[in-house]
Amino acid sequence: MMYDLKIINGQTPNFTTGTLLKQDVGIRDGKIVDLGKDLGEAKEVLNAKGKVVSPGFLDIHMHEEFLREGSNKIHYDISKHMALMGVTTALAGNCGNNRMDMSFFSQYVTKYGAPVNYLSFIGHNYLRQQVGIEDRYRGARDEEIKQMRALLRKALDLGVIGVSFGLEYSPGVSLQEVEKLIEPFKNKDLLLATHYRKDAKYALEAIQEMIEISRRTGLPMQISHISSCAAFGMMDEALAMIEKAQKDGLDISVDTYPYNAFSTFLGSAVFDEGCFELWGKGPEIIMLTEEPYRGQFCDMELFKKVRRERPEMLVATFAMDEADIDLAVKAPGVMIASDGLLREGQGHPRAAGTFPRVLGKYVREKGSLTLIDALYKMTLLPAKRMGLDNQKGKIEIGYDGDLVIFNPDTIIDKATFEEPMLPPVGIDYVLINGKVAVKGQKLLREDLGTYIPKSL
Ligand SMILES: [Zn+2]
Repeated sequence: MMYDLKIINGQTPNFTTGTLLKQDVGIRDGKIVDLGKDLGEAKEVLNAKGKVVSPGFLDIHMHEEFLREGSNKIHYDISKHMALMGVTTALAGNCGNNRMDMSFFSQYVTKYGAPVNYLSFIGHNYLRQQVGIEDRYRGARDEEIKQMRALLRKALDLGVIGVSFGLEYSPGVSLQEVEKLIEPFKNKDLLLATHYRKDAKYALEAIQEMIEISRRTGLPMQISHISSCAAFGMMDEALAMIEKAQKDGLDISVDTYPYNAFSTFLGSAVFDEGCFELWGKGPEIIMLTEEPYRGQFCDMELFKKVRRERPEMLVATFAMDEADIDLAVKAPGVMIASDGLLREGQGHPRAAGTFPRVLGKYVREKGSLTLIDALYKMTLLPAKRMGLDNQKGKIEIGYDGDLVIFNPDTIIDKATFEEPMLPPVGIDYVLINGKVAVKGQKLLREDLGTYIPKSL
């Protein structure tokens, strides 16, 4: 039978043998149905000579866009940039935060499709807002925890993969609050993800707390973007601590992004009194990313003024050690994830460059890790963590037709802090569910992705 599409002359990664294998890929009805040489006829043929044909990247840590209710037009923003950098599946709702009602989000993606396949967490801080907690410095009362549990139950019915926490953003949240919220759901197949409580000299303590949450709840824990927590001279110790917890039998995993600046809202608790002492740096490390200050670095006066007047301003803060970023990027078991977050088309370049940057800068230019190891950290490893490894993350018969075809000699990110939305180069095609979504730097289709509910 005729294939819908076949990819010829390319090389596919095999994560068991750690090698690239020359084979053609036949796709029908959205799935990989054949592999090998001299495949039959296809309606569409992509020539991948000299290119790598990889499973599409799975971004286990990103922040979804804000979709407008009451409109029948498609309003995707960050997920377009995700697709352009080779991401085919993205996990939303991280760092304790959701940007929309879950039922609206899941229905919207189901109805219109999306530039990428979407899964989501439900965020604890979002739940706190929903039950009316406005003060981020106070803990939830028992009655509020009860209400949050009801909302969490609803979100689970909508197929969220688990719960994310953003401890740094709500300093009033205690370990007990986390435990109490999760208590009734302990025996469910839930994934937890946590944005640590504090960074720099508090990093190890913060990592210990996340491990402790996993120990007390008995649930798996994804430690989010470890670089912005521990790339302050203690990455070695941080990774060793995680490894020890894994050896002790705890189900802990971790992700990182390949940049030495973190990004968040200027009004958040991250920039509370004492932050500059903590980082040993001044406000000149903070770059404002939105007009009318776009591209401008702060002095104390500007920092105070914008934090007061525009607390929702996204900023990039150049606080981290490059050597520690390198350690995290190459450490086996650390997934690559973007932590991409955009507001009105502005933000940190990681939303448009993360995966090509690892393949171009860390694999090809610096030689920090091999191509196969890097691809594993972007595909099969996160696919396993998301419970999708029986359908995504490998080039195998029966697997979804989510693929990236790229040139390993030229792939690199182009997005910078000045021009954060520039698409990468070196990617020829991105396929989502068996169809071409991206050709070169052009997004052709933004309706091929689906909402993937987790069945518990
Ligand atoms: Zn975060």
